Amino acid sequence: MGGRFRYIPGVVTLRMDPHRCSGCGVCAQVCPHGVFVVEGGTASIADRDACMECGACALNCASGAIEVEQGVGCARAIINGWITGGPPSCDCGGDGSSTCC
Ligand code: SF4
Ligand code: SF4
Repeated sequence: MGGRFRYIPGVVTLRMDPHRCSGCGVCAQVCPHGVFVVEGGTASIADRDACMECGACALNCASGAIEVEQGVGCARAIINGWITGGPPSCDCGGDGSSTCC
């Protein structure tokens, strides 16, 4: 599923620390783009470039194993950056309290 959703390769801020992962599987459940797989009691990032930086995985990971700069890589932010000539930014998820895209 994830292969259909890509914006710009290699710019996603998503990071995951496997040493902090409990293997609960929540990240794989909440990710709308199938970025994570959970095997052998640990999650891993299987498709990083499919991430749209919605922040759902980091918000729901009780172990604090996931970091992502929410909203920077979403389509709206990238288009805003193109228009303004500045860094990608959007006003739909930057406060960490909501998601977008
Ligand atoms: S939500 Fe966090 S602790 Fe649970 S599997 Fe994913 S990375 Fe590991
Ligand atoms: S930020 Fe959103 S799209 Fe990216 S891995 Fe987490 S849940 Fe999936």
